[in-house]
Order: sequence, then structure tokens, then C-alpha cells
Amino acid sequence: MCGIVGYLGKREAFPILIKGLRRLEYRGYDSAGVALINEAGGLNVYKTKGKVDNLVEYTSDKDKTGTIGIAHTRWATHGEPSAVNAHPHYSQSHNLAIIHNGIIENYADLKGKLIEKGVEFKSDTDTEVVVQLVEYIMNKKQLDLLTAVQVALYQVIGAYAIAIIDKRDPLQIIAARKQSPLVVGIGDGEFFLGSDASPIIEYTDKVVYLEDGNIAVLRLDKNRSENSGMELKVVSILGEEQELTVKKVDIDLGQIEKGGYPHFMLKEIFEQPECLTNCMRGRINVEADHVTLSALIDYRRQLLSAKRVLIVACGTSWHAGLIGKQLIESFCRIPVEVEYASEFRYRNPVVTKDDVVIAISQSGETADTLAAIQLAKERGAFIYGICNAIGSSIPRATDTGTYIHVGPEIGVASTKAFTGQVTVLTMFALALAEAKGTMARDEYIKVVKGLSEVPELIREVLKSNEKVADLARTFTYAHNFLYLGRGFSYPVALEGALKLKEISYIHAEGYPAAEMKHGPIALIDSDMPVVVIATHNTMYEKVLSNIQEIKARKGRVIALVTKGDDKIAKIADEVIELPDVQECLEPLVATVPLQLLSYYVAVCKGKDVDQPRNLAKSVTVE
Ligand code: GLU
Repeated sequence: MCGIVGYLGKREAFPILIKGLRRLEYRGYDSAGVALINEAGGLNVYKTKGKVDNLVEYTSDKDKTGTIGIAHTRWATHGEPSAVNAHPHYSQSHNLAIIHNGIIENYADLKGKLIEKGVEFKSDTDTEVVVQLVEYIMNKKQLDLLTAVQVALYQVIGAYAIAIIDKRDPLQIIAARKQSPLVVGIGDGEFFLGSDASPIIEYTDKVVYLEDGNIAVLRLDKNRSENSGMELKVVSILGEEQELTVKKVDIDLGQIEKGGYPHFMLKEIFEQPECLTNCMRGRINVEADHVTLSALIDYRRQLLSAKRVLIVACGTSWHAGLIGKQLIESFCRIPVEVEYASEFRYRNPVVTKDDVVIAISQSGETADTLAAIQLAKERGAFIYGICNAIGSSIPRATDTGTYIHVGPEIGVASTKAFTGQVTVLTMFALALAEAKGTMARDEYIKVVKGLSEVPELIREVLKSNEKVADLARTFTYAHNFLYLGRGFSYPVALEGALKLKEISYIHAEGYPAAEMKHGPIALIDSDMPVVVIATHNTMYEKVLSNIQEIKARKGRVIALVTKGDDKIAKIADEVIELPDVQECLEPLVATVPLQLLSYYVAVCKGKDVDQPRNLAKSVTVE
């Protein structure tokens, strides 16, 4: 959940660590801290509550020298956000400092035992237990840091990415991971560490993605000149040396910077036409009326023989899954169930070897989705992943999958990843339907062609930007919003409501329009804005009646209509026009003005759009 950065080399570490933290701040941002070992061998830890800016201000008059350091931006799980609970944490002697992403589940038990042995704790975090345990083991058994880390991690239950430094050995960082991501960057005579590659790519494109259960030793030997005196060793918890695979990352810096937009979220909304083009590149061939997904070529037998599809996901990805269900059921005639990964894993769900499980996650690190995959795997299902972050844990845990290729998504509220996921699900359903022969050829061709035109349609929708910004201003007073849609538009209503909640903190509910009569209609009065997706589709007349019902109770209707619709314009308070699009492709187009609406409402309310309170970008804890 948090961001981890580390540096070991020849340059001053502090500026590199701060820049890295800013790149990772989307992962967690309730407090931040840094630990540096200076020339004199002093280990300085500075930490503050709040954003990285607070840390920079706080350290302005402090000693920030040192060519080795670790830094952290936190998303609290144990202990309130405060300077004391912020990372790094010292060990009792102040010789060691640790940063951690994840949760130590048996921390209370370990802490109790250490307190009995006389160890004094400073914070309420689960993290501090690890550094205190490592030091206790080092002292008690006279072990070196690496061995003590191995022994300590053997006793730790939970999820972690950690980095530890020891002031008595300023040429070494020890890092380890289990279920939380960690990447080592290899420069010329310098090492970098990051929760993902974004803090590293400015300096090197050579990275090693640490595998689960492994410990990395990053070491410089100033007396050695070959390979600039660098040594990277990876061992298992039991000490067995592991093979290293150095990969090349190809994210460019422009992709993770704002590029002139005031917020990442707005940039990412506007990037969607280009992102979806990238997502379809090499996969959709309009001349040949064909969709090619390599997963369906390589694993044709497994995917074709599925008797049922189970989609597991969380949050926005779950909404994409609901659209995927309608696409797969109508194109491929296979039953589909959509599950919250967090619920699925704690039931005793029926999963068999005849199931194909589709796991959807932008970051590829969502802890609940990873655990759901594990469970489904144990029961023999075939697992297909839909992720954005290349080389992340989910793509590595699945049998096959398709990357959405929309580039790094930094804004915490997901936008382009959602439309990327829906695009991949549409291509998946089309490719599977073609292989199974469940879709009429002319219908298949029509959808393939329609999908290829979606980026252009989104460009057209984005022209309503100013209009949406204007109307957002008139709705900032609201404490509640209702979003209604039917069929393919129902998940769009859910997603629209989630976006508004996430960044403007206005309570919002998404409902199937026809269900309104079974409860939510009681809430409607002249203060209640109701967003209705009322395009020209098979449900048009029914949704029109729903709008009448809302107006009869004086609700304020913001309607998304098909261009040229004049019936709804007469009764709705506000109308946003969408281009005419096939019903099954409508979510890709209708979602965009709802993203803009939530963005502008939040901006007008003065909220922190890219880093909303209490949320983190990738939920790597349960
Ligand atoms: N569980 C740790 C804490 O609450 C780490 C949380 C994080 O990943 O930021 O401090």
C-alpha cells in the first residue's frame, strides 16, 4: 500500500529518495520519512505526518548527507498516521532502520515476547516488531544482518516488502518481499529500490523484480573496481542462492509526469483515446475483421473448454467485471459469475477444473485478488489475468492473460485502467465467441469495427469537458447523488457513483434504474441530483419513464443521452450528449463524462483529486 524507495551509491541519496517518494506518493500518503547514514556513520531518521512536502520542509535545516538511504510514504494499517508511527523505524539501539509495506499479522504475539525480553517499543505499528526482532536475534545469536533477517522473517506471518540498513555497514541494504511488490534497479555503481519501477527509471532501465519469499542483498565494495564494485545477491529465507533475471523496463518519464494537466486524473481521462488505441494495437485488425489475443491462441483448449467463467476483482475492476459478464454471456453463451475477490476467498466457493477464472487488477498487486487466484488455482481452475502493471504479481501468478497497456496510472481514482479493462474484456469475449462459433459473423464484424472506433468516439465525448465543468459547479452543494442505468449502463452507474465518492467525498449510490422504485425513490426530493444514463438503446422508453418518476418528485436530473435526443432534453435539468454507439460498447463512451463530472465536482470543492483521503492506489493489504 505504501511507497518504498532506497538508494545506495556514490551520489547524495536524499534528493533521489525524495523524488522517488513523490513518484510513489499515489500509493499511500498519510506520512513520510527517510533514513540516511552520513559520512561519520550516524544514522539519521526524519519523519513527519502528512505529505512528502511536509518532510522536505521539516528536514530543511537537518543533516541530509549520505550516499545510502531508505524512504517511505505510508498508508497506515496499524497505528494512527503520526510522526512516531511513520517509517523508517529505528531498532532499540538506533543501529538499524526499517521501512515496510504490508501487514505483519502476528505482530502482537512477537511484540509481547520481545517486551518480555526487555525490548522497548516506540510506535504502535506492526512494522517496528520486525526491526526489533532482527536486532534481538543479531545480538542474542551474534549473527550478521542477513542471517538475522532470515531468522526473523522465518518467524513473521504476513505480507511485506521491507528494506533495512545498518549504520555499522553503510555499503549494504537488505530488502525482502512476500506478497508486496519490490523492484531493484541496477545503475552504474549504484543501486535503487522501489515499490515499482517509477522512482528508478530516471536513472536506469535495468531492474530485477524480487520474487515472493526472497531476500536481496545490495552491496557496494569500494575496494573493487570491476562492475563498479557492485554485488547483488538474492537468497531465499532459508539461505539458498536464487538465480537473478535482469529485465529492461520501457516506461518513459513523460508517462509518469503530469504533462501540463493540473492533475494526473484529468491527464489520464484525456489520455483514454490514445490508451485504448495502444490497448487494441496488434490485437484488432479491422481490415481482416479480426481480434487476435495471444492467450487465446496459446491456451485455446483450456479457454474453449470452460463450462463457466468466474471473474474476481475489487473496486473499479469489479465494475469492469460486471460489464465483462454481460459481454461474455451474450457473445459466448457461457455462464459468468462476478465475485468480489475479498469475499470469494473467505467463502468456500465452488470452483472446479472446468472453470476459467478471470482476475482483474490495474496494479497486478491487489492482495485480495492474488489470494482469490491462489484459491482458484488450488481447485484446478485455469486462471487468466487482466492487468496493467507489467511484471507485477498477478500476471506472474496466472496461467495466461492480457495486459491492458494503458501506461502507468497515477491518479488514485482509476479512469483509463477501467476503460482499458473493458476494452480487453470486449476483445476477449469477441475472440472466444469467434473460436466457439457462438456469434453471428455480421454481428461479430460490427462489434469489432465499432470497438476500433471507440477511441475516436471518446475524443468526441471529451469535447464536452467545458460543459461538464460548468454543470459540476452547480452540484457541489449536494450531500447525496444517485446514479441510474440499465443493462450495460448499470455498471457504468456504479462506476460513476464510486468515482464521485472517492474524490469528492459526496455519498453516491449506483442503482439499476428499474430498482429505483424498490427503495431509493424515497430519497428523491428537490435537493437530490440523479444522474441517468438514458441513451438510445433497448431500454430507452423504460428509462424515460424513470426520469418522469424522478421529475414528479422534483429530483434534479442530469441525463446522458444520445446526440440529437430531444425528448429527454425537455424534461431533464441537464443533458450531456454522447455519440451514437452500439449498446455493448456504450460503457466505454458513457463512463468518460461521469469521470469528468466527479473530477470537476471534487476540484470545485477544493479536494485533493489525485490523492483522496484514506485511499491508496494499489491495495496490497487485505
Ligand atoms: N503496516 C504498516 C503500518 O501501518 C505499513 C503500512 C504501509 O504499507 O504503508 O505502518
